[in-house]
Amino acid sequence: MLWLKLHHSPGVVHIFFCLLPPAICQLSPLDLRPVPAYKCPALIQRRAIFLDRDGTLIEEKNYLRRPEDIAVFPGAARALRRLLAAGFKLFIVSNQSGVGRGLFTMQDVARIHTRLAALLARQGVHFQKIYVAPEAPDQHSRSRKPSPQFLFDARDEFGLRLEQCYFVGDKLSDLECGWNAGLKKCLLVRTGYGLQVEKSADPRLALAVVVDDLPAAADWILRECLK
Ligand SMILES: [Mg+2]
Repeated sequence: MLWLKLHHSPGVVHIFFCLLPPAICQLSPLDLRPVPAYKCPALIQRRAIFLDRDGTLIEEKNYLRRPEDIAVFPGAARALRRLLAAGFKLFIVSNQSGVGRGLFTMQDVARIHTRLAALLARQGVHFQKIYVAPEAPDQHSRSRKPSPQFLFDARDEFGLRLEQCYFVGDKLSDLECGWNAGLKKCLLVRTGYGLQVEKSADPRLALAVVVDDLPAAADWILRECLK
């Protein structure tokens, strides 16, 4: 009987099951109890956290234009290390309309991201990719949030399962970007513009999870994965 045969090689069977579609992957071959997604290697390799930059990962500086002005939020690096340890890939998705408005250039943005990546790399955090939309709101843009285009690009390049991914941001456009891409959940942090957004009581917030900051977002996501 298939069931008894499976019982004799649980490790092999577990790997086999993880290659199956997620609905099946959730089933243990031994007792049909749900296997948490975080234990399923095939899923772990394909899930990610999309992070807004200003007001979420680093302090909102109202058109940050100098690398030396970067201020990473306290606890952010540790939170991201925990998410990496749980198997999430990390991406930054940032609108930088200051470029389109002529306040600074993409070279300035690149310098900022080089320093940001170096600061966090020293603390064990590595990003797969940093996506930047440089257009001003009134300019045509393929991928400026709330467009989900960068998330689709990441899905195609890194083989992500977007329905297993999360977005963390401080604006409604961050949440909408995630919703437009069909992510599992979008989290609003109260840092940056987040508190202001929460107070707006926009009905769309009912779809979001609201947390204090990035460390709290990591706590929520990791708890969710352990269910
Ligand atoms: Mg922001």
